[in-house]
Amino acid sequence: MIEIRGLTKSFHKHKVLDHIDLTIQKGDIVAVIGSSGAGKSTLLRSINLLEVPDEGIIRIDELQVDISRKNKTDVLELRRSTAMVFQQFNLFRQKTALENVMEGLIVVKKIAKEEARKTAALHLGRVGLSDRMNHYPKQLSGGQQQRVAIARALAMQPKILLFDEPTSALDPELVGEVLDTIRKAAEEGNTMLLVSHEMNFVRKVATRVLFLDQGVILEDGSPEEVFSHPKSDRTKQFLTNYY
Ligand code: ATP
Ligand code: MG
Repeated sequence: MIEIRGLTKSFHKHKVLDHIDLTIQKGDIVAVIGSSGAGKSTLLRSINLLEVPDEGIIRIDELQVDISRKNKTDVLELRRSTAMVFQQFNLFRQKTALENVMEGLIVVKKIAKEEARKTAALHLGRVGLSDRMNHYPKQLSGGQQQRVAIARALAMQPKILLFDEPTSALDPELVGEVLDTIRKAAEEGNTMLLVSHEMNFVRKVATRVLFLDQGVILEDGSPEEVFSHPKSDRTKQFLTNYY
């Protein structure tokens, strides 16, 4: 279980996250929607402390980090409990697909090289890239690169997977293969927090949808509740731009 309490972050007096409270159960597929600048990326980046929040508590299972009393060991542990997939893939360019997936297993998880190679190959197979393992990122399509990034995240067996607009940098014809990979990972019981503008996908795959607006969660419910019966006028206004 992931528990967030009072998570707050400002950039130069601009409050981007305003005392966010959020509890995510194991296996939940939580989609975050909202306008540009709403704070979606900042929320994800604050959960794995890529961004240091000003205040708040983040708890992942038994591990709790109180931001104001940050303890370096806990911060590292928290990072290890999460894995993030970015819009721009962020693969190591000088490493093959296999080496990209092996890296975290060896460096972070301290798994022996041969074992890491087996695990990495297994995860690349699961995302349909068995025949591309020795390719470098530049030899792969955007969709294939993003699938390597997803395999790399899944191989780490994080407590929560964070996806920040994983398909928005892709050519339209490559979006489907990446969404299929995410859907499969969701069906396998992974816990996910996903920022996405793919509303049809969110509607089908998410167990829960959050509408974030000016650093506040304005809506939190099932896809049916949020899309068909939004409570706030802001949500209605946002959704009309998509349908
Ligand atoms: P988008 O849909 O465009 O990705 P978002 O909801 O992910 O938007 P964030 O990236 O979280 O929005 O940004 C929220 C606000 O915080 C924006 O106003 C942004 O300009 C500001 N912001 C984000 N990161 C920084 C930073 N490092 N320094 C200063 N301001 C920042
Ligand atoms: Mg963003």
